[in-house]
Amino acid sequence: MKITEIRSFLMQAGAPTETAWSAAGMSGAGARNWLFVKVYTDAGVTGLGECSGWPRVVETAVNDLAHVLIGQDPRDIERLWQRMHTTMMGHGQTGVVGHGAMTGIDMALWDIKGKVLDTPVWNLLGGKMRERVRAYSHASTVASAQSLVERGYTAIKTGGIANPLDKLADLRAALGDEIDLMVDLHGPPWLSAPDAIALCREMEQFHPLFVEEPVAPEAAAAFRRVRDATSVPLAAGERQAGLFGARSLIEDGLVDVIQPDTGRAGGLTQLRKIAALAEAHFVSVAPHGGTLGPVAEYAAVHFLAAIPNALILERFEDDWPGKHAVLTHALECRDGHIVVPDRPGLGIDIIEEFVAAHPSQRNCRLAISDGAGAYTPGTEEEAVYFQPRQGRHHYFKRSTK
Ligand SMILES: [Mg+2]
Repeated sequence: MKITEIRSFLMQAGAPTETAWSAAGMSGAGARNWLFVKVYTDAGVTGLGECSGWPRVVETAVNDLAHVLIGQDPRDIERLWQRMHTTMMGHGQTGVVGHGAMTGIDMALWDIKGKVLDTPVWNLLGGKMRERVRAYSHASTVASAQSLVERGYTAIKTGGIANPLDKLADLRAALGDEIDLMVDLHGPPWLSAPDAIALCREMEQFHPLFVEEPVAPEAAAAFRRVRDATSVPLAAGERQAGLFGARSLIEDGLVDVIQPDTGRAGGLTQLRKIAALAEAHFVSVAPHGGTLGPVAEYAAVHFLAAIPNALILERFEDDWPGKHAVLTHALECRDGHIVVPDRPGLGIDIIEEFVAAHPSQRNCRLAISDGAGAYTPGTEEEAVYFQPRQGRHHYFKRSTK
């Protein structure tokens, strides 16, 4: 069996609600792109994958990698991964962009192997640890959190640059102790280690499942300071590429939860190694899903179905409806859990006509919004390092209600 062709499918996807995208009114062209990859073989079997991250740029990388794979046996997944990775050496490895490209191709190879062997990808990864995968969704208000709970969710994440402490306190008061809560501080450049420590200490009383990126994980010394000063479990990993990107977070004991993005961490070939390294350090796995399209989410479910240290999957319950329309089979989510699919391979295909009907326009947006009043772009004081610090009290603000 030989690979004959690799094709990319790029599309514009709308924004999920309850995110900075929607808060900034970026429901259309400023929102996400999804990049799908198909690997074709001379046996007539095709594999499907997805690359998240920066899809318009990653697409170029996918097409540039194709020639090192055409003519190769798609079943030799590890060998082909190393072949791609070695090709990247000359480009400086290229972080999540290069790993994003490898991810989509690698995912498609696992899909092909599953189809050839007539078995789901989770079976190739070691078999089922669980029949369903717990998921959490996002809420910035008590009303939106209650709506999720009514639909069966038992875990909810909040956060952002304004009032994260207030949001956590309000959600805990409204939802009680049976709902798991998480906070994402997004590790911004203006949040110092002392401020992050003060925030995390205040959050301890609300017992979050984890606090995500209290400072940028690239700032290892600052992350260490936060780690040593608070008892809240810490999470990070969405910005890191591959096994080596996750290694220091895990081995240095900086996180309790590692959050590889299944669309850009290097594919299932890397994810299972990250999970094994995490297992050796008693770290659990909660894949990032902020920019994921539906194919990478499928891969995440297969992955979490098979590993022992799966904690939970990030998911936008209130997502753009096209997320379901682009696939032949939408994931089934019941009571806050995703049912593990049992069709061969990943178990899905994309509707190519739907992709073609949503051409990519652009895929860059301002990383922060003024939705919560802590940052106002377009002013003479616009500077991500300084303006949010002038509104530092927003971090610690507590409502009087
Ligand atoms: Mg995050």
